[in-house]
Amino acid sequence: MNRIDFENPSRQMLTDWLAEEDRSQREWLWAMAGACKRETLGDSIHLRGLIELSNECARDCYYCGIRCSNKNVDRYDLTDEQVFAAADFAWKARYGSLVIQSGERTDSTFVQRITRLVRKIKQRSNNELGITLSCGVQPLEVYQEWHEAGAHRYLLRIESSNPDLYATLHPADGCHSYEARLCALFDLKKAGYQTGTGVMVGLPGQTVFDLADDLLFFKDFDVDMVGMGPYLEHEDTPLYALRSLLLPQEKRLTLTLQMISLLRLMMPSINITATTALQVIDPFGRERAVLAGANIIMPNMTIPEVRQNYQIYNNKPGIQDDAEISKSHLEERLRKMGIAIAWEEWGDSLHFQKKALSLRRNF
Ligand code: SAM
Repeated sequence: MNRIDFENPSRQMLTDWLAEEDRSQREWLWAMAGACKRETLGDSIHLRGLIELSNECARDCYYCGIRCSNKNVDRYDLTDEQVFAAADFAWKARYGSLVIQSGERTDSTFVQRITRLVRKIKQRSNNELGITLSCGVQPLEVYQEWHEAGAHRYLLRIESSNPDLYATLHPADGCHSYEARLCALFDLKKAGYQTGTGVMVGLPGQTVFDLADDLLFFKDFDVDMVGMGPYLEHEDTPLYALRSLLLPQEKRLTLTLQMISLLRLMMPSINITATTALQVIDPFGRERAVLAGANIIMPNMTIPEVRQNYQIYNNKPGIQDDAEISKSHLEERLRKMGIAIAWEEWGDSLHFQKKALSLRRNF
């Protein structure tokens, strides 16, 4: 079997690979996907400094520790100055890009604040910092407003491309619906973003058929970026009641690595994030994901005073650390694994760039 066989795989081929129990076979796949990443996107990885802007959330997703019904969370909202300090850190640290992630709100105060923050960060960094947003489902006009302000990448996970499984993860109302999320993904494309989505791996009730369909969904949607991580339990969520159905965490990690490798081989030029959730299971989880085909890491820059309040799952790593410590720990681990960082570059999705180029050529 060679790389070409993975470009348009059948559902059966994907499920066979996801169910593969032979360790040497899995390692063969990870190595091939790692080589594919290096040949397509180069040896280095790109960084996006992560700002967890606020844990105030209007949504009630059954898996998430910061869901609005969780009364055990101290809610916070970083000040503008704290956000600018983090952005300045990213700029001086030569990260090239940052991500603003937040609990989900759609009120005009929140919308306008994001617009203002994005504009200001662009000005302060002489447009040198690329900005990715991850602020949930919003109307098209809001996505357009934030794009015009200077954000050019957006992450919105579909969580599961199986509408039935998705329905077990969310309340049955309009704003949480599968259709609303899918529509938002199309709106993001329409608004001009490099559009990222993703799923959680190892959810209760999820099968390898669901995961194979997730990979086919990414390809079919022609996504520019993907972030996939293992589902991790949080004791203050309804999904915690189903924890006896879960695969062991180590198995969720290897399954996530399988997903990353298969996707890299299916879509060689997209951006794939090595997510923080991998690091909960294995301190070198993110680096293992890079070796299996991922090319983006998001070091946390949130101030330590509030990190513990943005616990979407239990045992979030590095909650005592500040941005400087998170940076040095990451650099240390990457060095140990022989992985280089591309400093001061946006690290845009090559897949998106190729699409834009071919559109211009055909115009
Ligand atoms: N509210 C925005 C959204 O839903 O896109 C952004 C914040 S949300 C906390 C970011 C991501 O965290 C979600 O897309 C979800 O996949 C992930 N997440 C939440 N709870 C999780 C859990 N228990 N285990 C793993 N990932 C989780």
